[in-house]
Amino acid sequence: MEINLVSDTVTKPTPEMLEVMFKAEVGDDVFQGDPTINKLEEMAANMFGMEAALFCPSGTMTNQIAINCHTQPLDEIICHKLSHVYSSEGGSFAFHSGVSVTLLDGPQGKITADQVVESIKPEYDWTARSTLVVVENTCNIGGGAVYTKEELQPIADACKKNNLKFHLDGARLFNALVETRDKPKDYGELFDSISICLSKGLGAPVGSLLLGNQAFIKKARRIRKIMGGGMRQAGYLAAAGIYALENNVDRLKLDHHRARVIAQVLEDLPFVENIRPVESNIMFFDVKKPMTAFDFLDKLKENGIAAANFGPQTIRFVTHLDFTEEMLDETVRILKGFN
Ligand SMILES: *Cc1c(COP(=O)(O)O)cnc(C)c1O
Repeated sequence: MEINLVSDTVTKPTPEMLEVMFKAEVGDDVFQGDPTINKLEEMAANMFGMEAALFCPSGTMTNQIAINCHTQPLDEIICHKLSHVYSSEGGSFAFHSGVSVTLLDGPQGKITADQVVESIKPEYDWTARSTLVVVENTCNIGGGAVYTKEELQPIADACKKNNLKFHLDGARLFNALVETRDKPKDYGELFDSISICLSKGLGAPVGSLLLGNQAFIKKARRIRKIMGGGMRQAGYLAAAGIYALENNVDRLKLDHHRARVIAQVLEDLPFVENIRPVESNIMFFDVKKPMTAFDFLDKLKENGIAAANFGPQTIRFVTHLDFTEEMLDETVRILKGFN
């Protein structure tokens, strides 16, 4: 049995998903003539109570388009030091948008309104202009941590008060929503723009959505084209996205449950320490020296389990749609064997 805990991006479309993809009605989306993409964008906008949405090839692109639309060169964005926009998008906020960044720290990849307010630069000739705050929910490298609406509201209020835009990197927003039971519409009210990945826990092969008001999405459509993300008959991909939103949201709870089961087994392993709180489908933990992350990954690999390295001692496991109950049992059996 091959078990892949590297990421929730490794899933492959199920026969049911492939079926709706095959049958999708398509057109040229650069002319906004793909009915399936139009349907997905409308469905997502309605779901979040936002005016409009834009289907893009990746979550990196939706985040980078949002940064580009909300800022001018010489502005700065404010985000956590572990955030994807800073750590995993090649520093491209500087490349695409000519902006710098103020990095905040905080437990589990999360930031607070006080931190945001304290980091806003006064308007001198020599300071970058603070114009955009980005948060991530769930926080990937923060260990899959979940923000509640109550935690985000004060940050949203601080942004409004200080004339900052507020963007959500919601690559795994639905993982947060199934835990907190907050509603997508609550999020539509909190943020100026939201990015959602269809290709993570939701199990679509490709695609992310950017949400915002009409004027923002109009601008975003132009930036998407300029970044090379204007796709033609991509309704085949959007069909998978519609299927994912209709069928694969509630089951995310199962991924979270399985992650907790694995974390409990990890607790008992003598060479494992510092397991971050498991709040969704992501587990971060360290192995004790002299063992290294690579040693442990090798051990896992010999037993048919793939996982990801995040530092000399740090490992990440991620559960997902293609990680079955049978695989959970096998993973637990193998891990217990290391004891
Ligand atoms: C995966 C991910 C993205 C987007 O990644 P792509 O691979 O470009 O789709 C954005 N933010 C977070 C937190 C992610 O985990």
